Amino acid sequence: MKVALFPGTFDPLTLGHLDLIKRGSALFDQLAVAVMTNESKHPLFTVEERVAQVKEAVSGLDNVSVITAEGLTVDLMNKIGADYLMRGLRNTTDFQYERDIAAMNNFLDDQCDTVFFLAKPEYQHLSSSLLKEVTSSGGDISAYLPANINEALKQRLKEKRASEVKEDNEKGR
Ligand code: ADP
Repeated sequence: MKVALFPGTFDPLTLGHLDLIKRGSALFDQLAVAVMTNESKHPLFTVEERVAQVKEAVSGLDNVSVITAEGLTVDLMNKIGADYLMRGLRNTTDFQYERDIAAMNNFLDDQCDTVFFLAKPEYQHLSSSLLKEVTSSGGDISAYLPANINEALKQRLKEKRASEVKEDNEKGR
């Protein structure tokens, strides 16, 4: 049985990520999507929120599970019995970064084999951070996000702006 792990921050999950998950689900017998805690990236959504969002988006895919994790990817792969690590490539920047990570994971565990999916042309320019930036400036990027995540993103950015304004006002006092 071929088991793969697709780790990421997914802050939030985009249709680019979801396309990869669907393709991985068709290729592997089992695919575990791991929502990494990644506190150093200061995610906009909590890990619990991101797990719930991903779960809703993959609910129609029977061989896909959603887990949360921190620490070394190779340790997680051994824990869940995954043979393949799945990652996406949008451009040469991704390629150089991902190549180094793949080599390091292979050094840490020579059983770890990384499988890369090329992003579909229509999603190659998509990143969670770009979508957050555009939404925060009032742009409509609903074409690139599952509907529930688009709404959650608008709401969270609104809350964030309100709390920043409140903080500024308090400082100004
Ligand atoms: P990480 O912090 O691990 O990079 P991300 O959530 O940003 O987490 O990305 C997870 C994986 O999904 C990475 O392999 C990334 O290259 C890939 N990815 C991100 N956006 C897209 C996209 N639009 N199309 C295809 N792959 C993507």
